[in-house]
Amino acid sequence: MTTLEKNVDQKEIEKFDKVAQIWWDLKGEMGTLHVINPLRTKFIMEKVTAPNPKILDVGCGGGILSEALAKAGANVTGIDLSKDSIEAAKYHAQKEGLTIDYRYESAEELASKEAGSYDVVTCMEMLEHVPEPQKVIAACVKAVKPGGHVFFSTINRTPKAFLFVIFGGEYILRLLPRGTHTYSKLIRPSELKDWSNVAGLEFSRLASLIYNPFNHTFKVAAGVEDMNYMAHFIKR
Ligand code: SAH
Repeated sequence: MTTLEKNVDQKEIEKFDKVAQIWWDLKGEMGTLHVINPLRTKFIMEKVTAPNPKILDVGCGGGILSEALAKAGANVTGIDLSKDSIEAAKYHAQKEGLTIDYRYESAEELASKEAGSYDVVTCMEMLEHVPEPQKVIAACVKAVKPGGHVFFSTINRTPKAFLFVIFGGEYILRLLPRGTHTYSKLIRPSELKDWSNVAGLEFSRLASLIYNPFNHTFKVAAGVEDMNYMAHFIKR
């Protein structure tokens, strides 16, 4: 088994390979990521003071967040193990005239080659698709500089999230492709904080994205541990 195969669930990757063509369809199954994108971009960039920060986007998919970060002035590297998604991301960035370094590579591999070289690492909506999220967290910590920022977002493992995100979101409202999430792989904020702490991160702040089904918008609730949450850490 190569390092590349180690911490990856091929069934998860197949799901994303299958939908790679719809990353940039605003009204498609990935549409929700586009709706939350300005909110998460702000959550990240408002705390990053370096003028042209070097950002690593882990599990970048089709590049929805990577492109927003690049447009906000960052120098972005995006990695993913879905080849089709990386191809979709490359194609779209080229069309947009954006220079983003997209690579088909695991976080663990990149971190061992480029330890301590990023100002910021983002890993959004990805940890809940990985067999051992702690290893990805450790790789993110390895890739970032001491004092650098690490951002994670994921879904809380609560009955409420099961009801609204999986049952409601995937099966009723169709905000996400069916089968995107597996309940047991969702991550509680306390777990994310513990794993991050062990890996060498200091917790900074957390916010949830609260969905309003009446107008299909989200708002940021600072300090609230709800279903969809983002957390910010600093490397010690
Ligand atoms: N971060 C992006 C995409 C989230 S979807 C965004 O928020 O817009 C989750 C992504 O994680 C998919 O593109 C999937 O291919 C990727 N992924 C899943 N397991 C992975 C692994 N072990 N290593 C790298 N990427 C992975």
